[in-house]
Amino acid sequence: MKGKVYLVGAGPGDYKLMTLKGMECIKKADVIVYDRLANEDYLKEAKTGCEFIYVGKASSDHTLPQDEINDVIVNKAKEGKIVTRLKGGDPYVFGRGGEEGEYLLEHDIPFEVVPGITSAIGGLCYAGIPITHRDYASSFHVITGHLKDDEKDEINWAALAGLKGTLVFLMGVANLNKISENLIKEGKSKETPVALVSWATRYNQSVVIGTLENIYELALEKGVKPPTLIAVGEVVGLRDKLNFFEDKPLFGKNIVVTRAREQSSSLVEQINDLGGHAIELPAIKIEELADNQELDKCIASLKDYNHLVFTSQNTVQIFFNKLSERGYDTRSLAHMKICAVGPSTVSSLNEKGIKPDFVPKRAVGEAVFECLSQTLTKEDSILMPRSAIARDYLVESLKSICKVKAIDLYNTVTAAIDKDMILGMLSKNAIDYITFASSSTVINFVNGIGTENIDKLRGTRLVSIGPITSKTLREYGLEVYREPEQYTIDGLVDCMIKDNE
Ligand code: SAH
Repeated sequence: MKGKVYLVGAGPGDYKLMTLKGMECIKKADVIVYDRLANEDYLKEAKTGCEFIYVGKASSDHTLPQDEINDVIVNKAKEGKIVTRLKGGDPYVFGRGGEEGEYLLEHDIPFEVVPGITSAIGGLCYAGIPITHRDYASSFHVITGHLKDDEKDEINWAALAGLKGTLVFLMGVANLNKISENLIKEGKSKETPVALVSWATRYNQSVVIGTLENIYELALEKGVKPPTLIAVGEVVGLRDKLNFFEDKPLFGKNIVVTRAREQSSSLVEQINDLGGHAIELPAIKIEELADNQELDKCIASLKDYNHLVFTSQNTVQIFFNKLSERGYDTRSLAHMKICAVGPSTVSSLNEKGIKPDFVPKRAVGEAVFECLSQTLTKEDSILMPRSAIARDYLVESLKSICKVKAIDLYNTVTAAIDKDMILGMLSKNAIDYITFASSSTVINFVNGIGTENIDKLRGTRLVSIGPITSKTLREYGLEVYREPEQYTIDGLVDCMIKDNE
């Protein structure tokens, strides 16, 4: 029984800079072996039961001894497993991928290599530095900065100093002084621009710009640490114009997302795409009511209703799952007018092939009532799937017009949040925004950190999705920093963008 090994380049760090093929290998892996430079978020894509083996130490650039890593990979493959070896950047650019490949071959283990975006090119790109440019560099050279003591034999400094192209040193921070001294000694101008790019393509990317002459001093001053790219050449000057990444509206912002993990993906994705860092601390969890016979009954008697009101994305998902489980499809709703409370509910319905007849101007119960009450008569009858902790307002007010059947589908229950982590970040002022997308996230978040710690939230910008959520925040004596005009996730994100304009 023989498995297979995929040596996969995980790219420089930005989650979306991974190849489709690499992602496929993550999804099918039985074992993932990864190190410090591969973005850990990829592990979320692994199948359940996948084993994760970390082979890098966080405190320094050192990894497990290479032969131990080789053994781990080979042994797992020999058990018949699919092993995905995730490496930062490209596996063959100073990633020891070549050695791992040779070792696998020696042990007769089939393998494939999936190239990745190397930090040498992609990392500089995110710092606004094109590695070549017709006006400034006609070649580029990627060089190890991990020098042996007798580096004279290893690197031809005179040749490098004579080149007109861009020089990129990897693993070079510890030898920065040597690198710049050697280049100057061999005749490269002291004024040559140098960029130090740390944690390139991530929300915590930081860049120091100088010249060959002063870069070492600047690096000491700023405390530059690995992983860092050293770029030497005139192309560095283009950063002033081409720095698209650090110009993103939420670049470098730490934003806490308290929504349930099941619902948070669009918010998290938007934050990350805007250059921010979404910290998922779900204060609530969605729990579908088990053995929901009421729902079964309603689905068996859909003919009794002529209106269907969806009050959240969760209601859409759970309702349609049940519909399908019972052997029905959307045609069984053909006789009904359908209402969606807001844009995300609309898009969930669109995914099911349904265009809702009613969408109120604002995503709150009051607006739903206003919208529906204009056409409803006492002959109508409404089915309303909802959260078991929903406010009664909407059901009660619609009942003044016609028959309404509310049916509870799910509960939002408290999720344990990492209290120490959040309190630690709050005390270091390391959080830029905390976002709340419902009252229950507020309540559960406050309970999660402990009501005795509520004062620690006061310095932080609390962004609320709408008036009901804001009211809950205020009931705790907390100040609402921003509330959007549109009570939606997009509106919430917009608030933070505007705040940074
Ligand atoms: N295979 C990787 C390089 C591995 S060597 C690649 O293709 O990118 C490790 C070195 O790569 C680090 O010391 C650093 O110099 C560089 N590096 C990798 N990722 C980086 C990042 N996100 N930001 C800055 N430097 C990075």
